[in-house]
Amino acid sequence: MVPVVSPRAADTDPRQDILGLAREDLRMALLAIGVPDRQANMRAKQIWQWVYHRGVTDFEAMSNVAKDVRARLTEHFRISRPEIVDAQYSSDGTRKYLLRFGDGTEAEAVYIPDEDRGTLCISSQVGCTLNCRFCHTGTMKLVRNLTPGEIVAQMMVARDDLGEWPASTDNRRVTNIVMMGMGEPLYNFDHVKKALQIVMDKEGIQLSRRRITLSTAGVVPMMLRCGQEIGVNLAVSLHAVNNETRDEIVPLNRKYRLEQLMEACAAYPGTHNARRITFEYVMLKGVNDSDADARDLVRLLTRYKLPAKVNLIPFNPWPGSLMNVRIGIGSNVFPIWCSRQAFPPLSAPPGAAISWPPADSLNQPARKSAKAKPYVSRPLWPKSDRREQWQWSIFTPWCGWLIWMPPSIFTAPSWGWWRLIGKTARRAASRWCFWRHRAMWTRPAPAMRRFWN
Ligand code: SF4
Repeated sequence: MVPVVSPRAADTDPRQDILGLAREDLRMALLAIGVPDRQANMRAKQIWQWVYHRGVTDFEAMSNVAKDVRARLTEHFRISRPEIVDAQYSSDGTRKYLLRFGDGTEAEAVYIPDEDRGTLCISSQVGCTLNCRFCHTGTMKLVRNLTPGEIVAQMMVARDDLGEWPASTDNRRVTNIVMMGMGEPLYNFDHVKKALQIVMDKEGIQLSRRRITLSTAGVVPMMLRCGQEIGVNLAVSLHAVNNETRDEIVPLNRKYRLEQLMEACAAYPGTHNARRITFEYVMLKGVNDSDADARDLVRLLTRYKLPAKVNLIPFNPWPGSLMNVRIGIGSNVFPIWCSRQAFPPLSAPPGAAISWPPADSLNQPARKSAKAKPYVSRPLWPKSDRREQWQWSIFTPWCGWLIWMPPSIFTAPSWGWWRLIGKTARRAASRWCFWRHRAMWTRPAPAMRRFWN
């Protein structure tokens, strides 16, 4: 453990914390302490830049703010950081912080470096109401929602620790944020929205919305609002491909069914092949990790035509956890299947000592970010599955039909075969007649031109 010096605001400090105030709220707060109206905008902008661009925690360091205003700011406001109770540094660069807020409640934030990015995983609640079976936080009761200031403070603490002030858009260490820490962010929507808007502000930390991902267990009614009002990337804790299994491991599924969740994903604004929805899938031995589950997962994502990527997560056990651990893939086809179907699976949880999936299983180095591939809407079924070849040969376009038809002759019942031949012949004849007829009347032969007008 590496000790980190962290100033902590006293619990009894009556001064207002300006961390987490929106720009307009900051301006109003300045007016309330007697800053003249004509200066309020300018002072708010200066303070904003000192706090979010330079990371200062002392008003006296704001050298371009008048001395008397600095004194008034110190008298009425503070810029606080949560106390860092524990900071664990992994050999791969991962840093895990246990933070204690002013009222003594605690939450975690984790910094995860990668080859070309640094991701900060932050919490939105202390505890959680959802009780997912594989999640340690789910065993804790919800204590309270974090305030916008406490959510932003997790980012500030990480940047303090990484020495990343003043904020720069080049060579950043914290390049991405994922709302995947403690709690369900869509149950604390207003505070999360306000905090992320501060993080995205062009004169502060300046993180693009493309670099922020919000993870939900499936609070369906809030998903559209999230896309419209915040516009960040979406991650969904899927973890099962049918309602029976998902009811068990993600109890929220009893309220919002899998079909509703997938429809909400399909309606999420702004998704396309370069901006896919991430589906989190924790591998629980004997529960959701069979080969059939892998195929059903691909079918599910294909059915809803989702631009998706799948994040396979090995289960991280804790004392008293009931689920088994799957380490290594063995005969499991999950990563291979997902990558073949153009839903690139992601990598091992950082900080873990295991390599997941093994580098050779995906023919790429472990923990290398998956590059976006063109989205393929038609799955490639295994050659051994003749029945599905037959079914898909009917529904696929002509080229697919031509490829799959010859082998299906060996498996198809004879009446079905002749029926299909007849249907195909009728369709071809009718198409030929249609085009022939159309060509005759729209592009008449020269000899007919004199009758045309
Ligand atoms: S919603 Fe997230 S934090 Fe809450 S129990 Fe489920 S996995 Fe854990």
